[in-house]
Amino acid sequence: MTRQFLDGELISVLTTQPLGGALDYKAPVGGCLDGSYVEVPLGPRKVLGVVWGPGEGKVDASKLRSVIRVCDVEPMRPEMKTFLVRAAEYTLTPMPAMLRLATRSPGLGDPPSMRRIYRRGSRETPNRWTDARRRVVATLDEFGGLAFTLGELTETAGVSTSVVKGLVAQGVLAEEESPRDQPYPALNPRRAEVALTNEQTEAAEALVAGVRAGRFGATLLKGVTGSGKTEVYLEAVAACLKAGRQALVLLPEIALTEGFLDRVEARFGARPAEWHSGVTTTERRRAWTMVAKGGAELVVGARSALFLPFRDLGLIVVDEEHDISYKQEEGVIYNARDMAVLRGSIASAQTVLSSATPSLETWANAESGKYARLALTARFGAAVMPEMRAIDLREGNLPANRWISDTLARAMKERVEVGEQVLLFLNRRGYAPVTICRACGNQIDCDQCDAWLVEHRFRRILMCHQCGATRPVPEACPSCKVKGRMAPVGPGVERLAEEVRGLFPDARLAVLSSDLFGSAKDLKACIKEISEGGADVIVGTQIVAKGHNFPLLTLVGVIDADLGLQGSDLRAAERTFQLIRQVSGRAGRAERPGLALVQTCQPDHPVMGAILSGDEEEFWRAEAAARRGAGVPPFGRLAGIILSSRDAKAVVKAGKALAARAEPLRRIGAEVYGPAAAPVARIRGRHRVRLLVKAERGARIQDALAEWLAQVKLPASLRLSVDIDPQRFF
Ligand code: ADP
Ligand code: ZN
Repeated sequence: MTRQFLDGELISVLTTQPLGGALDYKAPVGGCLDGSYVEVPLGPRKVLGVVWGPGEGKVDASKLRSVIRVCDVEPMRPEMKTFLVRAAEYTLTPMPAMLRLATRSPGLGDPPSMRRIYRRGSRETPNRWTDARRRVVATLDEFGGLAFTLGELTETAGVSTSVVKGLVAQGVLAEEESPRDQPYPALNPRRAEVALTNEQTEAAEALVAGVRAGRFGATLLKGVTGSGKTEVYLEAVAACLKAGRQALVLLPEIALTEGFLDRVEARFGARPAEWHSGVTTTERRRAWTMVAKGGAELVVGARSALFLPFRDLGLIVVDEEHDISYKQEEGVIYNARDMAVLRGSIASAQTVLSSATPSLETWANAESGKYARLALTARFGAAVMPEMRAIDLREGNLPANRWISDTLARAMKERVEVGEQVLLFLNRRGYAPVTICRACGNQIDCDQCDAWLVEHRFRRILMCHQCGATRPVPEACPSCKVKGRMAPVGPGVERLAEEVRGLFPDARLAVLSSDLFGSAKDLKACIKEISEGGADVIVGTQIVAKGHNFPLLTLVGVIDADLGLQGSDLRAAERTFQLIRQVSGRAGRAERPGLALVQTCQPDHPVMGAILSGDEEEFWRAEAAARRGAGVPPFGRLAGIILSSRDAKAVVKAGKALAARAEPLRRIGAEVYGPAAAPVARIRGRHRVRLLVKAERGARIQDALAEWLAQVKLPASLRLSVDIDPQRFF
């Protein structure tokens, strides 16, 4: 039973304010529940909070203030509180910041009134098109079935209210009064059941049994690309819906959601709730409220969907669980894959981690029996896994400014001539990673960051990939002022595309890179066109590695397989293996067999050997042995401490002060390395210094870290962030 607090009773309220935290208040007239969302006074302001239990009585009764009002949303459930507390403890995040993650819905406290929304109307076209009118219609089309308020629509489309009103008058737009936050249409788990293969059936039955049992369990669903992992976990979703519980599917990339929503609609007859940065605020509020009320059965979203207030969560799927975009590296630093397992365990939900190339963490958990393991070994239908071959770049003597070897070019020619598609993969956005002055040797870097500016020739700019700052490509060198000697060094996808154009002037070329598309819809349209045969050669960054299905694609060329192996990143081998296997998996997904040609200067490197042989288990075992020997994750614990400040001296001083007081860490047998300048030593004008804490796997690292960090008082201008289980060391 939820505890009830009566009028005037002493309660504790956790607010979202950094300095507020949990504070004592008096319950309002009419009382409130434990977990109620409330508005409370804090200094001169009104802030959002959640009733967090009885008050502690630390405040003088005369100074005690009352809750202003109780918001009209479902109270936070005890299970959600536990999740937030445990996630905060794990990531060393202050509770107010954790609560902010869980309340990222605008107008949470607003009354449930009617509101006016806009959709496409009965008429296709207005009497006359203007740019502004086109933008309005394009905005509505882009977001499919989502509703817009007037404010959202004018802002997103960048038009005045009169443009919208004008389109309403002509019937191109419809204006409707709609109750806020309608439930999502019911999904029918029996609508389009698929006939699974034997292997798929076995995996699906195991997942379904877990869901039916209604308990926690974590499962690695491992299967080669195209083996039907999605089909299999959709069976688990169906079982979850039949059991009357809610399901959550996390995807690593917004660009993938559209296609996935279509698939859900085909399978269950309606679209689920969506939660990611591309969703309008009106829809976000609706999703948040309906998830809490049970009016949303299935949510498809990005990592932050994990913090939605599910009423009864029975299944969490983390698709492409190895993807690094599950790691949030700003603000609250957390890994959604790990938090999914935590949430699942608290909610008695099945948690499915799906991948063709799982992370070593998950692989090790499956090996040790902590997670169950299901495998799909064959591609669905006639498709077979592509053949993999290395091209030794040391032999070919590629001329300067050319990156496609003769062997690769010949193979490309053969495919293009018979109407098959070729994909060239290079994980570098832009035209060239560095721009150098041939007169003085100066390389152009960012004013605010320790990073080279990258030329993006299609957009005629130089861009910093750390802070996003852009400027026009200069004609004269900023250093020696000599004109006309600025030259690109090294390839990006745009430059590679230029080479393809030179080699195959008649081939239809598509370049896929996240920065070349204005919107998810443009990207989706382009991907659709490619899959229907609208391009002969596709040049792309890692965006092409994920989940797209190109039936005509039979050749994948990896331009620089060594790229990811450079640097000292602990996961360099793992990442390279995953990415190249994933990209190669794009070839030969239909009847025609595929080939992957991997250009490398280190064909004898063990990682290349594993990529080429496809002996994945052998790779994981070798990688696990190496990491076990070094005592690093998943066989040891790491925590990164990043200090940053505009003052370069202060940041080093603070780092040294921390290193000198590491006693609490030594007590648990942990070691502290650093301070050292971070690999990217300056971002947005802030100097960055890192410390690394290394401990044994079972060590209670969080408590020791908290004690350690509490000892040193840092100046306010200095920022400190703690990255538990760091993925990248930048
Ligand atoms: P994965 O998620 O492992 O990459 P998918 O579930 O996307 O694989 O399946 C690959 C393709 O094969 C999809 O187009 C899917 O619809 C199809 N497919 C897989 N299994 C079946 C099945 N049992 N019946 C019909 N189509 C299937
Ligand atoms: Zn920058």
